[in-house]
Amino acid sequence: MTQTSENSVLLEVRGLIKRFDDKPVLNGVDLVLPEGQIKMVMGPSGCGKSTLLRCINRLIDPCAGQVIFRGEDVTRADTDVRLLRQRIGFVFQHFALYRHLSALDNVTLGLRKLRGMSRADAVDKAMAELARMNMAEHAAKYPSQLSGGQKQRVAIARALAMDPAVLFFDEPTSALDPLMSREIVGVIDQLCADNVTMLCVTHDVDLARAIEGNVVFLDEGMVRAEGGANALFEDHDDPRIRAFFSRDR
Ligand code: ADP
Ligand code: MG
Repeated sequence: MTQTSENSVLLEVRGLIKRFDDKPVLNGVDLVLPEGQIKMVMGPSGCGKSTLLRCINRLIDPCAGQVIFRGEDVTRADTDVRLLRQRIGFVFQHFALYRHLSALDNVTLGLRKLRGMSRADAVDKAMAELARMNMAEHAAKYPSQLSGGQKQRVAIARALAMDPAVLFFDEPTSALDPLMSREIVGVIDQLCADNVTMLCVTHDVDLARAIEGNVVFLDEGMVRAEGGANALFEDHDDPRIRAFFSRDR
C-alpha cells in the first residue's frame, strides 16, 4: 500500500441516500476517510452499516449522493466497477473462505485469476501476506482445520494480497469468541501502525475502544455523532449513543 501525504482524503461520502422500495435506510450520510487512517462505523443493528459499505463498492446502487474515491466520483454510471472493487479489499464477518482450497490457495486465487500472476509469483506474494498475518506455518491447511481467528487472518491476508487502496471490514469480530476477537483487534491495531487505510463496520465496542480510531455513529440513516471511541463512550449527551456504548455491560 503506497503512503501519500498526511492529510489527503482517500474516500469521501456525500449525502448518500439509499431506499429499499420505499423504506429509507440511508438518509444522507456524510463521511470522510483520510489516507492511512481507520474509521469505525458503529450503530444499532439494521441502521444501514452494511448497506453503506455495499453502496460504496457498488454492490448496490445508492439512490442519491456521491462517493468520491481518490478524487473520482465512483457513483457515475461509467465507473469501472470491477476496478473499483479491486481497489477495495473486503473482509466479512464469516470470512468467506473457499473451503475446498488451502489457506495458501485462498490467497493465490485472486492473484492468479484477477492479476494474471504466475503460480510461482502468486505463491511468493501470498506467503508474504500470510507471514504478515502470522499464518505462514498454516498455509497448507484447509479452513476446517483453522480456528475462527486464524480464518479471519487468512481472509485479511487474501484482501491485502491484492494491494487494495483501502480495506473494508464488515463486523470482523462478531463471529468470534472474546479471545479470538482480541487476536483480530491485535491484527487491526498492527495494520493501523502500518498506515493501512481502513473502514471498519462494527458492533464491537471493545474493538472500537482498543483501536482508538475515529468513530462515526450511524442511527436512523444519519451520522449522529463522530469522534474518538473513548470520548463517545465516556460522556455523550445523546442518550441513544450512551445506551449503545454501555449495552451488555
Ligand atoms: P446493519 O448492517 O447496520 O445491521 P443493513 O445495512 O444490513 O444494517 O440493513 C439496513 C436495513 O436495510 C435493514 O432494515 C435491512 O432489512 C434493509 N435491507 C438491507 N438490504 C436489503 C435489501 N437488499 N432489500 C431490502 N431491504 C434491505
Ligand atoms: Mg451489517
